[in-house]
Amino acid sequence: MRSNGFAAVSFDAGNTLLAADPAPPVLYARVLSRLGAEVTAEEVGPVFAEVWAEAQQDARDGLDRYQAAAGGERAWWAGFVREVLERLGHDASWQDALERLYAAFTRPELWRVFPEVEGVLDRLRRRGVRLAVISNWDTRLPGILDGLGLTAHFHTIAVSSLEGVEKPSAEIFHRVAARLDIEPGRILHVGDSPREDYEGARAAGLEAVLVDRPGLFESSPFRRVSNLTEIEAMIGGPQDTGP
Ligand SMILES: [Mg+2]
Repeated sequence: MRSNGFAAVSFDAGNTLLAADPAPPVLYARVLSRLGAEVTAEEVGPVFAEVWAEAQQDARDGLDRYQAAAGGERAWWAGFVREVLERLGHDASWQDALERLYAAFTRPELWRVFPEVEGVLDRLRRRGVRLAVISNWDTRLPGILDGLGLTAHFHTIAVSSLEGVEKPSAEIFHRVAARLDIEPGRILHVGDSPREDYEGARAAGLEAVLVDRPGLFESSPFRRVSNLTEIEAMIGGPQDTGP
C-alpha cells in the first residue's frame, strides 16, 4: 500500500474546468460591433489579452481584486471594459458595453465544460477523493457552476471575490485545506496558471500540476498534464486499484 496518496484534489475553474464559448474576444467583437464601429475578434484579441494580463499583476497582498476595487466588482469590470475600448479606439458607450458583456458572461450557457471533466470528477469522487474549487473569479461563479450542474461534485468551492483573498496567496489554499480537513501536503491542486495555481499552491504546501491544454509549457520544469484524465493516475494511495 502506498502512503503518498492524495486525499483531495482542488481545481482552478477558468480554462481548467470550463472556458467561455465563444471566447471573450469573439463576444466582445460581436457586442462592440453592435454598439458602434465594426471590429473583429482578431483586432480585439491582443488588446483583451494585454489588458487582462496587466490586471493579473495588479493584485495587492493577495486581496481579491474584485472586492478590493473601489465600487466593487461591477466597478472593476467597468475599468476593464473602458480600458479595452480605449486601447481599441472604439466608439461604443462603455456603459452599454459593460451592461451587455456583464449579462452575457453571467449566463451559464456561455460556458463550456471541457469534455473529460465530469467523468474525471465522478471517478475521483467514487474513489473517495475529496474535491474542491479554488478560483479567482467574481461573485458570478457559483451561479455558473450551478447552471452547468457541477456544484454537487465539490466538497467546498472557494471563490476569491467571496473569500476576500485570491491566488496565489497561501491564505485561500489554507482555508480550503481546513474545510476539507486535509493536510495541504495531501492535496493536489490543478490549474492552468503557472503563477496563481502552480507556484501559489506549492508555496502554500500543496502539490501542484499545471493543466497545459494548448501545450504552451512543454519545455518548462512544471509538472504538466494536457487534460484532466491524466490526474487520475497521479492520485495514488490505497484506493488506487484501477478501474
Ligand atoms: Mg484558470
